[in-house]
Amino acid sequence: MTVIYERVALIGLGLIAGSMALAMRRGGLAGEIVGTARSAETRTIAQEIGLCDRIVETAAEAVEGADLVVLCVPVGAMGAVTGQIAPHLARGATVTDVGSVKKDVIATVGPLLPDHVAFVPGHPLAGTEHSGPRSGFAELFENRYLILTPPEGTDKEATLKLRALWEAFGALVEEMDADHHDLVLAVTSHAPHLIAYTMVGVADDLRRVTDSEVIRYSAAGFRDFTRIAASDPTMWRDVFLSNKEATLEILGRFTEELFALQRAIRQGDGDHLFDYFTRTRAIRRGIIEAGQDTDAPDFGRGARRKGEAAE
Ligand code: NAP
Repeated sequence: MTVIYERVALIGLGLIAGSMALAMRRGGLAGEIVGTARSAETRTIAQEIGLCDRIVETAAEAVEGADLVVLCVPVGAMGAVTGQIAPHLARGATVTDVGSVKKDVIATVGPLLPDHVAFVPGHPLAGTEHSGPRSGFAELFENRYLILTPPEGTDKEATLKLRALWEAFGALVEEMDADHHDLVLAVTSHAPHLIAYTMVGVADDLRRVTDSEVIRYSAAGFRDFTRIAASDPTMWRDVFLSNKEATLEILGRFTEELFALQRAIRQGDGDHLFDYFTRTRAIRRGIIEAGQDTDAPDFGRGARRKGEAAE
């Protein structure tokens, strides 16, 4: 048990903050964990389940004397929260965030912070479709990637120390340019979420025609989409609004490919379909070989692991 930070302030107490608090506790990585959330309800739940050592009412209060401050609110709320904490940040503190989009967060949060703190943006590629103070678990980040996107000139020591914290959670830490991060995530997470939302929306429209058949006979493909499309609406609204450029770029390419597949189906071009599906199957194999999923058969009967990535 090695204390990495003396006092950690968690701003927002949902899935990610809750999981960080539990992982810090498990590893004895923080001297004290102070938490705060916007609503009294969340603060009360966090207090009841003993998520942090101390729960306080305001973000300004939470950051007092903290050597690490973690912004765990939706991307669209990062600016307002930073405005509230900026005058209260301790000299030498590190401020980080866990937002799913990096370029926009850096542009919003960076200029609001005083010079006497280090800002090291981060993003854990781990999540579930659940949210709120009860949804966290200490193992969430194990064997999952954590991407740091420190802008040029960021204090190296601060970055190394934050890296050590995430590594102690069991995460695989990588550093990346924020633009690159946003493009990669648009491909691997943001566009797939939008597609899942769309597919479930289409099925919902159909349901009105076919009554409850969509639910009753829902097969694995559709069930997987419904899990993804159950993700938090506020978080995902903010992701699309703040990663607009990269998401639109990927969706443009997606639409072109979709039209090509549509044409192949119409023209009965089986070779095109077969070759395409052979190529995509290899990607799945690559993910399994990289240890980011298993090939255990799962027929939707509850065999899914708790930490299944929604991100
Ligand atoms: P969550 O479980 O929904 O919790 C969000 C927290 O933010 C709650 O405590 C909420 O307060 C607070 N909040 C919401 N709107 C706010 C506002 N306008 N002002 C101040 N506080 C506000 O969310 P989460 O899944 O932990 O996500 C937190 C961050 O992590 C997001 O930036 C998200 O992009 C990122 N992230 C999420 C995942 C994932 O899969 N979920 C993965 C990686 C990164 P109340 O409870 O009081 O409403």
